[in-house]
Amino acid sequence: MSSILPQNHAIRSSQRALDKIGTIQKRSSTNRAKSTFRHVLLPSRVYCISSSTSSSSSNIATITTKPPPVSEPLTYDPLTPITKNKMSNTKSVLNDPSLKSTWAHRAWMASGCTTVLIPLARSAAGALDSHTWAGPLIASCIGYIVADLASGIYHWGIDNYGNAESPVFGAQIDAFQGHHKWPWTITRREFSNNLHSLARAVTFTVLPINIFCNDPTTLAFVGVCSGCIMFSQQFHSWAHGTKSKLPSIVLALQDAGILVSREQHADHHRVPYNNNYCIVSGIWNSILDDSKFFELMEMIFFFKFGVRPRSWSEPNSEWIEEAEIQSISASH
Ligand SMILES: [Zn+2]
Ligand SMILES: [Zn+2]
Repeated sequence: MSSILPQNHAIRSSQRALDKIGTIQKRSSTNRAKSTFRHVLLPSRVYCISSSTSSSSSNIATITTKPPPVSEPLTYDPLTPITKNKMSNTKSVLNDPSLKSTWAHRAWMASGCTTVLIPLARSAAGALDSHTWAGPLIASCIGYIVADLASGIYHWGIDNYGNAESPVFGAQIDAFQGHHKWPWTITRREFSNNLHSLARAVTFTVLPINIFCNDPTTLAFVGVCSGCIMFSQQFHSWAHGTKSKLPSIVLALQDAGILVSREQHADHHRVPYNNNYCIVSGIWNSILDDSKFFELMEMIFFFKFGVRPRSWSEPNSEWIEEAEIQSISASH
């Protein structure tokens, strides 16, 4: 008897839940044209698609990488329990071969690290010979500060303009714009896989400087700045990390403001998605956001070239992360 009562209670609860769902589906089909976002707090998988996003997406068709969201009615799928999807999604993320490092990725990392170490070593050798450390040390600090600013401007640019087909930056644009929808993947991405694009860029830009420059101060600036930019994606990954799983030294550096903090970068992934772009130390974030530097740049770009940044559009499905899967990943 005691085992039957809970079962009957569960059956009645399920029936009430299904009745509610039927009502919701009817309302959805009649009011779809008026709806924006719908929220259903049922312990089941619910798809919410805004019909109003189709008009806004047409305005930004030239600057988005994903197809516009398909206008679908609010539907309930009782045959695909969340737990089942959680397991399959988690498994697919963990086994995704696109997150693994290849030997080509590792080769580019080796090339990038060598390219960064050469100016640092030459700068140290020059300072040792001349017994003048002040210049290279100050230049190193400036390089670290400039790297944060550069990471913010670059991040702002590829978050807001261009698409996967854009020349030179297309892959980076696609990756960063996709990062807003699937932010948890950066923590699953292997080291060289995450950094190889920046390592390749550093190799091509810094190598000529290594050849033609002999000034220890300039070499110190170049080495530190390019090194911070190359590792900015690792700092970014740590900003998405779970506190309990991050190395204690990383936590200490984040808490000290030497690396971009988890709290600061979390704001970048919240509405209105147009702030906290810097991902090295984050020291420029408040300066750039408070001064509305990026808003000014966006206005200039709009009036000069007629191009609207993605951040001006009402947040649509491309900006909104799939929180369901993120929570799954965070639990593993
Ligand atoms: Zn971003
Ligand atoms: Zn991020």
